[in-house]
Amino acid sequence: MAAPFKLAPLPWDEDALEPVISAKTLSFHYHKHHQTYVDTLNKLVEGTKFADMKLEQIVQATGDAKDAAEKKIFNNAGQVWNHDFYWRSLTPAKTQPDAKLSSAIARDFGGVDALIAKLAEAGKDQFGSGWAWLVSKNGTLSVEKTPNAETPMAKGTNCLLTVDVWEHAYYLDYQNARPKYLEAVLGRILNWDFASANLGKEDRAVRAAAE
Ligand code: MN
Repeated sequence: MAAPFKLAPLPWDEDALEPVISAKTLSFHYHKHHQTYVDTLNKLVEGTKFADMKLEQIVQATGDAKDAAEKKIFNNAGQVWNHDFYWRSLTPAKTQPDAKLSSAIARDFGGVDALIAKLAEAGKDQFGSGWAWLVSKNGTLSVEKTPNAETPMAKGTNCLLTVDVWEHAYYLDYQNARPKYLEAVLGRILNWDFASANLGKEDRAVRAAAE
């Protein structure tokens, strides 16, 4: 889907993640922050070579931009994609990694608790605004952190889960206590079904390339 981009619907009700994330935080985060990235992106790409590109293509085409106008496009496109990915990384439902993701987590981290500790550390260590990610590269899992609007997807890396660590994601609920927000999100509302499906997607892409 090319421009004009629309704010994608949330996968659950705005109060569904309470008490981990309040409806108030969700409402500001989605209707103000996420919506503004969408609106700004639409204005910025109008009449440019990016107007006919899909969101992922724009992010990848502008990921290393030095030009200030293209960097602005990247910042907004990256934030649109990252937020949509973040909402789908969260769920009030009780989910668990499927068999394939489970064994990959055991192999690459030693278990889910160790993975969660790594994600918490990445989110805490990200100085200023940014994101913590679980990614897979040819089936091998790792944890990354990115500043501002940056995303592993810009370089073609397969993302499984993300957590937003911009202050707007937690300040109303946790004030400055980012580690408390991370502990609650990582321990209670991660969408392991989404992560499992994303790992499966990479498998299919690798198989298709080999055929
Ligand atoms: Mn955000």
